[in-house]
Amino acid sequence: MALLITDQCINCDVCEPECPNEAITMGPEIYEIDPHKCTECVGHFDGPQCVEVCPVECIPIDPNHVEDRETLWQKYLRLQAEKV
Ligand code: SF4
Ligand code: SF4
Repeated sequence: MALLITDQCINCDVCEPECPNEAITMGPEIYEIDPHKCTECVGHFDGPQCVEVCPVECIPIDPNHVEDRETLWQKYLRLQAEKV
């Protein structure tokens, strides 16, 4: 699953540098997660780093981008391949 930042976001800036996939960027009003880059931290960490640091708990699972672990793993491998 990719994750989603809701409009509860207070633009505190702490999640963006924590993302290992550079999936979090500032949008027009609040931070946004690119579902093509979010692996729910699969391949990097045991759990979503952005969720761990967010002080207002505004990062739920994106219901439009539900993916199983294997799909997230394949996304991780694709992103790693694109880096080289
Ligand atoms: Fe980035 Fe992980 Fe948060 Fe997805 S769950 S946006 S990969 S920090
Ligand atoms: Fe918004 Fe939470 Fe990220 Fe802070 S940590 S910028 S409140 S999503």
